[in-house]
Amino acid sequence: MTTHDVRIYEVGPRDGLQNEKSPISTDAKLRFLSLLADAGLREIEATSFVAPRAIPQLADADDLMAQLERRPGVRYPVLVPNARGMERAEAAGADAVCVFTAASEAFTKANINMTISESIDAFRPVVARARERGWWTRGYVSTAFGCPYQGDVGEAAVVGVAQQLLELGVDELSIGDTIGVAGPADVRRVIGALGKAGIGADRLAMHFHDTRGTALANVSAALDLGIRCFDASTGGTGGCPYAPGAAGNLATEDLVYLLDREGLSHGVDLDALLVAAQHVSATLGRPLTTKVGQAGGWRVP
Ligand code: MG
Repeated sequence: MTTHDVRIYEVGPRDGLQNEKSPISTDAKLRFLSLLADAGLREIEATSFVAPRAIPQLADADDLMAQLERRPGVRYPVLVPNARGMERAEAAGADAVCVFTAASEAFTKANINMTISESIDAFRPVVARARERGWWTRGYVSTAFGCPYQGDVGEAAVVGVAQQLLELGVDELSIGDTIGVAGPADVRRVIGALGKAGIGADRLAMHFHDTRGTALANVSAALDLGIRCFDASTGGTGGCPYAPGAAGNLATEDLVYLLDREGLSHGVDLDALLVAAQHVSATLGRPLTTKVGQAGGWRVP
């Protein structure tokens, strides 16, 4: 859907905001979505159709999708956990869906109270229905580099889950460093194992967290291996519940700056993106802590 060198897949409105404790108005979220599209983002994960009691912050998913002013050429995927969520997503006019599981049994149990295999079974009708309707689909493999409960996660587990999701028919996999522990060598190990199993870079997106400051180093390593889609969250929201106060998702503005310096096109305007980042900061009532959010882009005087 894009002719750029790299796809930036924005997760701020969903992954970024989902764990925020103070309620955020639907209007503020719609404004955020609008500013992201203004900045040139063309894939924006809008919300989640999980049970409202599970993620109260996104309980307005139905309203939000009904009010969302869709820009031509912009994809607005939504997270769907099961057949019930799919009914809601269809009623709300969604046309792209994501399903979310993990490479760690302990994490899946704690996060969605299912085994990995049960989660795949729950997604089967969702992905089948989405494909029937011609929707784009994505599968998340979280905790691919480490788990807050079981520690190390071997690459064989990542490959196993990735294969099961691809068998369901998802178009793309997003491989996530949910707790932000990976370094470049881990990235080479996991992407290498996926490649050996026949899962090439063209089916993969990488979802890095900057919890320990390694997200951009990991992006560079993944770029060297041919990965051309990265998840990021404008304003750097989406802090990890397992490391209170720590940085969360890789910030879209930090990613954009790196890609600009690498001379890779992506379609996002940094100045316009910083307007969206400032909106997030104002909405949450706290200053921006992202590197480029604080310093701005570089203008040679
Ligand atoms: Mg994340």
